[in-house]
Parts: sequence; structure tokens; C-alpha cells
Amino acid sequence: MGQRLSCRVQDEHGLFTAVQFGHLEVVNNLLAKDPSLIHQTTLYDRHSALHIAAANGQIEIVIMLLKDPSVNPDSLNRHKQTPLMLAAMHGKITCVEKLIEAKANILMFDSLNGRTCLHYAAYYGHFDCLETILSAARTSHVAASWGFSRFVNIRDGKGATPLHLAARQRRPRCVHLLLDSGALVCASTGGYGFPGSTALHLAARGGSIDCIRELLAWGADRLHRDASGRISYLIALKHKNEACAALLNPSSAEPLVWPSPLKFISDLNQDAKALLEQALMEANREREKAILKGVGYSSPSQSDTCIADDNISEVSETELCCICFDQVCTIEVQDCGHQMCAQCTLALCCHNKPDPTTALLTSPVCPFCRSNIARLVVAKVKANASDHDLDLDLYSSCKLPKLRKARNFSEGSSSFKGLSGVPSFGKMVGRGSGRIPADNECIDKP
Ligand SMILES: [Zn+2]
Ligand SMILES: [Zn+2]
Repeated sequence: MGQRLSCRVQDEHGLFTAVQFGHLEVVNNLLAKDPSLIHQTTLYDRHSALHIAAANGQIEIVIMLLKDPSVNPDSLNRHKQTPLMLAAMHGKITCVEKLIEAKANILMFDSLNGRTCLHYAAYYGHFDCLETILSAARTSHVAASWGFSRFVNIRDGKGATPLHLAARQRRPRCVHLLLDSGALVCASTGGYGFPGSTALHLAARGGSIDCIRELLAWGADRLHRDASGRISYLIALKHKNEACAALLNPSSAEPLVWPSPLKFISDLNQDAKALLEQALMEANREREKAILKGVGYSSPSQSDTCIADDNISEVSETELCCICFDQVCTIEVQDCGHQMCAQCTLALCCHNKPDPTTALLTSPVCPFCRSNIARLVVAKVKANASDHDLDLDLYSSCKLPKLRKARNFSEGSSSFKGLSGVPSFGKMVGRGSGRIPADNECIDKP
């Protein structure tokens, strides 16, 4: 992965080797003897000690080097790559965090492909690094001087955005995070891949059905043509990615699209948003199943295992959604207070496509009282709660609301603490892209 950092060249003092392997004492001794070594670089690539430490995840050495005020956190190697770019390339999250804390500039471009650290994180699929860089961008000078959404859609020398690279390299979690952060799903490249390619073209080429699912759910246009006039369906066919082609075939059923233009969607709190996103991805998976049956592709999705144990009989009638009588009410409409399930909420809000003549989504109203929807929130549960209600209540206060339908929770959520044991938010977001731990990994931890 990435570039090899060879230290064998011109390392007679042994510094670079010691840095690479994290021998802090050796490094300290060498620098004590000859402080000028700290500014030495490797002969060919011109890597500094900080580059080598960052690329190899030697966090102690990174910390030690950064304490020296004469060390520039943005030192450049031969290809104008910063230590931060190398850390993002190699997925060394602690080094990424430390460098950003030391005010490393996230808006530097290398001389190889004109890429930033955000491109590197997306290309190599390091979700945690991508997340850290994005959150730095929200608060740093970049947001003020450049604008956050401009940064998310930053182009490399060939016109590729981080979204293009993540889609091409089959990184569905990064694709999801970028889209969720405002990456433009319809942007096309200049010279990267084939001119005029969208992320959907590149995902079709890469053959990642998870990336395609994400892109379609965010409104990617299956009819968009690249500069040679090809739609993504043709690209998938050409590269023999049959399952991808089936979903991209303009004549197959349209997926539900995340209704981001609606005001109350952009105002959703994290919990309500997670519920709706799950419902959307589930609904699309059901559609996919029907489409993919035709090409004999068995989706590795988790839907089957998770839905299999639904203990619907234990859910009392009063908790059920009054529209479908199938799911538990998880979403509350405000201001009127009516409740329904996430699936029905989406069915009311999600259109396959905005009306092409007006390019507008009509604002939906509450299906019960026809009043305007000001906000959607996670449904609160009544006071005289049964066990199930309690589970729901716990759920609605959860900061990482990534379990499936609420009624799945009743199975084992007594150990709710298990949720905080889930490795990272990133992993959970991955649920939307078809890679998730089995439910008991989330819930049943002691
Ligand atoms: Zn319903
Ligand atoms: Zn209402």
C-alpha cells in the first residue's frame, strides 16, 4: 500500500531506521549527539524523520519531533507530500490526529497528482483518517477561508474529488461519509479515469455494489453520460460487473433517494437521521434483491439474519405504526406529535427523483393531520413503559444509534452498554453500506 519508505539509502547515522522502527531512545541519543540530524532528509525521496515516523505510525517519535519548534509539521518531501499526507495514506490515525493538533495544514497539494491529505485518506479507504480530517476542516481556517463544502469537493490535478477516488477504489464507508459531508454526487472528473466520469461511472468500473448503492441512494443519475457518451451501466457491463450493471440498468427499478433537499431532513438530529438512513438502505436492499435475483448474485447483505428473528408477536398493537401495522413507531412528527415508523416516514418523504420539470420536492405533510412537518425526531415512549418501551427509550437516548429496527432491540439490549464498546462510529456507519457486525456483536456484549 502506498509508497515504500526505504531508509536504507544514506542512513549511515542510523536515524531513519531507528525512526522507522520506533526506537525512541536510539533516536533521542542520536539527536543529542548531533541535533542537526533532525533536519536531515533521505537522499532521494527527501523524507524527513517526521515523514518516516508519520508514515510508519510511530506516534511517540512524532510527538517527540513535534516538540522541537524548529521542526515544520508541513515539511515537504521530493513529491511535496507532507507528513500528514503520508499518515493519511498509511492509515496512521494517531499520527493524523497529532499532526492536525500541531497545526499541520490540511490544504496542501502534492506535486504527483495535486492531491491533498483528504484525497489520500479517501483513496486508501482510511475512514477514521477521513473523518478526522473532515472534522478538522469544519473548525480550522479552511472552513473560513475556503468553505467546508468546497474542501469536501476539492479536486486533484486531474479533476478527481475525494468522492471519485473512494468510489473508484471501492471504499463504501468513505463514499458514505463524503456524501453525508456534502460531496456532490453528480460532479464529473476532468482527466481522471475517463473524462466526464461521475463517481457512479468510477464505482461501476471498480465494481463495488456497496459504493453504487450509496451513490444511488444519494441521487446519483444512472443516465448521466461521460465525455464519450457512456452511461455507468455500460461501464459496468464492459468490466463484467454484472450485479453492478443490474442496479445501474436504467430500466431496473429506481432506488429510494435520500431526500436531502427537504428542510427537515437537513435539520434531523443524529438519532432520527440514523433511523431514517437505515430504513432507506433496507428498502433499497429489498429492491436490490428482486433485481439481483435475475443475475444470480447473492448479496452479502445482513438483512436476512437481522430480520429473521423479529419477534413481532411480542410487540403490542399500540406500538405499531398506524400506517403499515408492521413496524414499531420510531419517528415522531413535530409539531403535531404524530408517530410512525421510519419506513413509512421515508415512503412519504422519499421520491424516486425530484420532479424534473420543477426540480423541486414538494414538502410532505403529516399523514394523520395534514399539518406541515416542521421536524422529525426519534419517537419518545410513553411513561408506563413495557420492557420494549424501555429498550426504545434507551435507544432514543443513544449517541450511536445504529441498531436496526427498534423491535430488534428487544432481543438483548439489556446490556446497552455494549453499544459504547463498538469500536468506532465509523464501523457503525458502515452498516449503511452492507458491512456490519452481526447484531449480537453490537448488543450482546456483557
Ligand atoms: Zn409504518
Ligand atoms: Zn400530525
